[in-house]
Amino acid sequence: MIDIENYNNKNVFAQIIRGEIPSDKIYEDDNVLAFKDINPQAPIHILVIPKTEHCSLNDFLAKAGDEKILKFFKTLKKIINSQNFSNGYRLITNVGSFGGQEVPHLHFHILSGTNLGKLVP
Ligand code: 5GP
Repeated sequence: MIDIENYNNKNVFAQIIRGEIPSDKIYEDDNVLAFKDINPQAPIHILVIPKTEHCSLNDFLAKAGDEKILKFFKTLKKIINSQNFSNGYRLITNVGSFGGQEVPHLHFHILSGTNLGKLVP
């Protein structure tokens, strides 16, 4: 049972979307925001979020609808392409506390800038 299911618009990323908390933005349009992680785990650590109220990937895939899902992933591709990760990168989304999710608004971590090695818990 995933414990992060109900959207709470007081979460930190909702506040970043509303401009109540500053962020170091990489990309923004009407639907998507990408910004630097405040506590980077690699030389490049970008967070990509939809501006819609979805608490996790599960919630997004269940409720957003095909058009919004496709549009989001096309934008994610655009952001990745814009960064010239010629040596590769890692894309992660944590789902639920068991998956390591802390902020209950869907976000993708993009990590790069060094050899990231194997994924270890
Ligand atoms: P999660 O564990 O939920 O997958 O990842 C949440 C991420 O959000 C963490 O990597 C954390 O450093 C980042 N984060 C938390 N609060 C803020 C904030 O206020 N600003 C930014 N830019 N990143 C944040």
